[in-house]
Amino acid sequence: MPVAGGLATGGLRYADQVGAEVIQVFIGSPRTWATPTGNPWEDEQLRTEAARRRLSVFVHAPYLINLGTPSPATLARSVASLHHCLRRSTVIGATGVVLHTGSAVHPGTRDRAMHQVREALLPLLAELDEVAETAGSAPWLLLEPSAGTANALASRVEDLGPYLEALDHHPRLGVCLDTCHAFAAGHDLAAPGGLKRTLDTLVKSVGKGRLRLVHANDSKDPAGSGRDRHASIGQGRIGAEAFAELFRHPGTSGVPIVVETPGQAGDHRRDIELLAELRAR
Ligand SMILES: [Zn+2]
Repeated sequence: MPVAGGLATGGLRYADQVGAEVIQVFIGSPRTWATPTGNPWEDEQLRTEAARRRLSVFVHAPYLINLGTPSPATLARSVASLHHCLRRSTVIGATGVVLHTGSAVHPGTRDRAMHQVREALLPLLAELDEVAETAGSAPWLLLEPSAGTANALASRVEDLGPYLEALDHHPRLGVCLDTCHAFAAGHDLAAPGGLKRTLDTLVKSVGKGRLRLVHANDSKDPAGSGRDRHASIGQGRIGAEAFAELFRHPGTSGVPIVVETPGQAGDHRRDIELLAELRAR
């Protein structure tokens, strides 16, 4: 959601405009290292209003974060940025925080990168556990595989099993599946049964109950392209039938779905209506 005018004021107005049942926001600019304190009234308002309307709130962590980076400076900024994001997400009562699984950047450095991810994330996950204990709830940390860029730490769904294993299968961890990313990484969701096979593989790799969010995006590029260019639902190379298949899979039962498609409120409303129609089928 665009949140111009404030997280609650602008965000909830947009939610009404598009008919949202769940929302996803950035709590600052996704392309900077800024750690805005936000407006406490807006944060509190979003928490209470979203609860009253039974809207689940998800927060997307900034895109710049890469816990696999070979640069110590980027690592320090990534950890600080994610830490800040988790704290603000707790304040606004977010259900989950979406984090890209990151990249080792240089070939042959995967082990170093995964060790670093582990060292960075385990303390943050422990902190979330503490928050949950004292406050009664805390956000999930949701790992989102990338579109298959070089030296990615996870892009295919079967990469998620080893990724979770490196984090001791921490109970606060979940998975966010982006259909455009999975398609770009070579899962042919457009083929009949393609989405079912991908979800079956995902569940086999990470176990039941880990899939906690889906980013439903069509793709402008063909399967395996490695390119992450989202399209409106049914207007890209994945096609509407795959999204119908998504709803039929038991692994997505009760799992919220967010669109990150191009366009304005009218386009998003159409995407949401089309998904609701496929769900009703
Ligand atoms: Zn996404």
